[in-house]
Amino acid sequence: MKEKRLSKSEWKQLEKDLLRERKPVWPRLKAKERKEVLDFSDGYRSFLSTTKTERETVNFIRRTCEKKGFVPVSRISSDNKKILWTYKNKLAALAILGKKTISQGVRIIASHIDSPRLDLKQNPLYEELDMAYLKTHYYGGIKKFHWVARPLAIHGTVLRDNGESVRIVIGEDGADPVLTINDLLPHLAAKVQADKKLKEAIPAEKLNVLVGGIHLPGPDEAKEAVKLRILALLNERFGIKEEDLISAELEIVPAGPAREVGFDKAFVGRYGQDDRICAYASLQAIISLQEVEDTVIALFLDKEEIGSDGNTGAKSRFLELILYDLFRCQGIVPEADSLVRALMGSRAISADVTAGIDPDYQEVHEKRNDARIGYGICLTKYTGARGKYSANDAHAEYVNWIRRIWNGFGVMWQAGELGKVDEGGGGTVAKYMARHGMDTIDAGPPLLSMHSPFEICHKVDLFMSYKAYQAFYQCEER
Ligand code: MN
Ligand code: MN
Repeated sequence: MKEKRLSKSEWKQLEKDLLRERKPVWPRLKAKERKEVLDFSDGYRSFLSTTKTERETVNFIRRTCEKKGFVPVSRISSDNKKILWTYKNKLAALAILGKKTISQGVRIIASHIDSPRLDLKQNPLYEELDMAYLKTHYYGGIKKFHWVARPLAIHGTVLRDNGESVRIVIGEDGADPVLTINDLLPHLAAKVQADKKLKEAIPAEKLNVLVGGIHLPGPDEAKEAVKLRILALLNERFGIKEEDLISAELEIVPAGPAREVGFDKAFVGRYGQDDRICAYASLQAIISLQEVEDTVIALFLDKEEIGSDGNTGAKSRFLELILYDLFRCQGIVPEADSLVRALMGSRAISADVTAGIDPDYQEVHEKRNDARIGYGICLTKYTGARGKYSANDAHAEYVNWIRRIWNGFGVMWQAGELGKVDEGGGGTVAKYMARHGMDTIDAGPPLLSMHSPFEICHKVDLFMSYKAYQAFYQCEER
C-alpha cells in the first residue's frame, strides 16, 4: 500500500490540527497584556514584602477585601453578597454569593498561607560564651544549609501575662538590625561538615539565631549579662518578659523585600511564594468579580506545610461552617443531607505551586511532563509519590471542564507533574478538599528554588494563574 506524501502546507495544517504545542507565554502576549503582567507583579512584590507569616497575610486579606466591599460574616445584612471569614487570625475565607442556590454546589479555590521557616522554641533565649542566641525548631520541609550565614528577620505575636497581644517585627525596617545564624568557616569544616551528607551537615540544634553580644552593666557576680540586656531591650520595646515567649508564635524568616530578578526583570524572587503566590492570585481574582452564577469561595489555609492538621488547617471543619453561613445568607434552612450534597456538587482548585524544571537538575525531572518556567499555570491532575500514593487523582471529566474553560478565556496553561516517577513527590490540600466529595484539581505556577529562602517565579506564570483562577470563578458553564 502506498501512502500519499503530504505537501508542506498539508503537513503544517495537520500539525496545527493535531499536535499540542508547548509554547512560552511572553512571545504570545499582546503589548497591552505584557503591561498587565508587569503591573500585576508590582502589586505582588509589595504584598510579598510585607506578608511573611499567616497572621500578616490574613491581615492583608482583611484590609484588601474590606476596601472591595466584603463584610465580616458577623456583620452581614441581607443585601451583602460579599462575605469575609477569619478564624484565629490564621485562616481566612472570602465568598461572593451567586445567583444560583448553593445547594447546587459552589466553586472553591484553596491556597495556603503558611510557609517553611524556623519557629522559636518555647524557651528560646540563652547565653553562651558571652553571646545571646535563640533556639529554633524548623517548620515544614527546609534544607538547613539555606538558613545559615544570611540576614534574617523575626516576625510574630507574643501574648503578655495580662493577656495583651504584641506584634513583633524586627529586621525589615532599614533602621532595624537583622538577625543571623552563624556557620562554620571552611578552614575548620572538613570533618564536622564537608565529609557528611548534605542533610546531616547542619543539625537542627545548631540552627540558633544570634541576637546579642553586649553586657548589661551590673554587680561583679552577675551572670548572663548579655541575655539580661536582650530581655531588657525586648521589655523596653515590646513590654514582654521571658515567660511571655512561651505564649508566642515567633517565626524566623529571611529579611528584606521581594526583588525583581534577572537583567530583564523576568522573575520575582522572595521567601514564601509557596504558597502566597496562589493566595495573592486567588485573592486578586475573587475581588475582581462583581456578579457570579455559582457562589465562589477563596480559602486561605494554614498548616499545609506540616500536614494540614490543627484547627486552622485543611483537615478542620471550617469549610462546613462557611457553607452553613451561606445557606443562611440565601434564606435556606438546610436539611440533614443539604451540606453533604452541596459539597459533593462543588468544584475546587487546590491552588498550590509546583516545581519548574531546573535547567541544572534536569535529571530529577521528566521533561515531557514537568512544568516549564514561563509556560503559564500548571494543571496537575495528580500529586502524590511512588505510584500516586496519597494523591487526589482528578477525574478526566473534571480535567476536561477546566481545560475547556481556560481555553475559552484565553488562559495560557500547561499540564504536568512534580518530578520523575519514583524520584520523590509531594502533596497539597487537594485530597482534603476531595474528601468532602467535590471535584478537585491542583493548579498553580511553577517555581524555581521552591522551599528555599529565595524562591523564584516567572511574572507570566503569576499572571496566568490569576487569569486561570478568574476564569474558574467566572465561567457560567457547568
Ligand atoms: Mn504549597
Ligand atoms: Mn510547600
